[in-house]
Amino acid sequence: MPTVFYNSHATPEVYAIIRAAAPAGFDVLTLDADSDAERREKLAVADVAIVASYPLRKPLIDAAVKLGLVQHQGVGWQDTVDAPALFARGIRLAMTPQGTTIGVAEHTILLMLAACKLLPHADRELREGRFHINALRPFSRELAGRTVGYLGFGRIGQAVALRLRAFDCGAIYHDPALPPDQARDQALAARRVGFDELLREADVLSLHVPLTAGTRGLIGGAALARMKPDAILVNTARGGIVDEDALAAALADGRLAAAGLDVFAREPPDRAHPLFALRNVVVTPHISAGTRDALSTKMRAAFANIERYCRGEPLEHEVVA
Ligand code: NAD
Repeated sequence: MPTVFYNSHATPEVYAIIRAAAPAGFDVLTLDADSDAERREKLAVADVAIVASYPLRKPLIDAAVKLGLVQHQGVGWQDTVDAPALFARGIRLAMTPQGTTIGVAEHTILLMLAACKLLPHADRELREGRFHINALRPFSRELAGRTVGYLGFGRIGQAVALRLRAFDCGAIYHDPALPPDQARDQALAARRVGFDELLREADVLSLHVPLTAGTRGLIGGAALARMKPDAILVNTARGGIVDEDALAAALADGRLAAAGLDVFAREPPDRAHPLFALRNVVVTPHISAGTRDALSTKMRAAFANIERYCRGEPLEHEVVA
C-alpha cells in the first residue's frame, strides 16, 4: 500500500474529506504546518504526492527520493509542477479534471453576473445604509444578447459556453491548437476567431488558457486597448495571464466596464493594489474549483488513479513528457 503525501497545507475539515476518499490501507500524510522543512521530511517517505495549489519545484522534488507519481488535484499543472524535473527522474505526472470543470464553469458565470450587476458594491452600499434602487442602473447590465469571447476553449471554456446557451449569449473562441470539430461548434453555437477579432468582438472576455510562457501577460495594455470600452473581463484561469496594473488602469479610466477575478499574479495578492479600490471589480480568493462537491470528486478520482498506478495499469489524464 502506498504512502501518499498531500503537498498543500489545509484545514482539518479539508484533510478529513481527503482521508475519507482514500482507499483502505493507504497511508495519507498531511502537513501540521505550512513549512517546506516538513514537506521535505514527508516527501522523503512518499511513493505518491498529491499537488493542489502549493507548487512542487526542484528543491522539494530532490527530497522526494522514493516518489514515483505526482497526481495533480486539478488541471493547472503547468505553473505548479516542475514537470521537466519530474520527468528527468522518471517520475510520472497525472491530472484530475474530474470535479474541476463544472466548479470553475459555474464560478466563471457567477463572476460574469456579479460583474454585470456590480454585486459587491451594491451589497456593501446596502449594508452601510445606502439603499440605491436607481443609482446603479446606468452601470449594470444583462448577459442576454451579449457575445462571450473565450480565450482557450478546452474543458472549462466549453462547459461555460454550454451553460451560457441558456442565457442567450453568443459565443466566439480563440484556441489555435484545438482540433476543428463542426459538431462541437454547432452544439455550442460557437465560432472560431482570431485573437484580434476575439478582443474586438467580445462583450465579455473569459480566460481559460493555462499559464505558460506563451500566455503570460497576454492580456496586457495592448490587448485591453483593443477591447470594447463596455466589455467585461473574467479571469478564472491564472493571474499571470493578465497585466494587473494595465487592467486596473483600464478599469479606472473607463476603458473597460468591469472585471471578475478569481486568480492573481501573486497569491495572496497585495491588498494595496489599485484593483482592490475599484467598485467595478469583483474578486474571489482562487475558489473556482474549491467547492466541497468538487473536492470529494477530485479526491476520489485522484485516489482511483493512484490505485491504477499501484496495479501497474495505464493512468487516466497522464501528462506525457
Ligand atoms: P484544457 O487543457 O482543457 O483547455 C485549455 C485550452 O487552452 C486548450 O484547448 C488549449 O489549446 C488552449 N490554449 C493554450 N494556449 C493557448 C493560447 N495561447 N491561446 C489560445 N488558446 C490556448 O484546460 P481546462 O481544464 O479548460 O483548464 C483551463 C485552465 O483553467 C487551466 O490551465 C488552469 O490554469 C485554470 N484553472 C483554474 C482553476 C481555479 O481554481 N481558478 C481551476 C482549474 C483550472
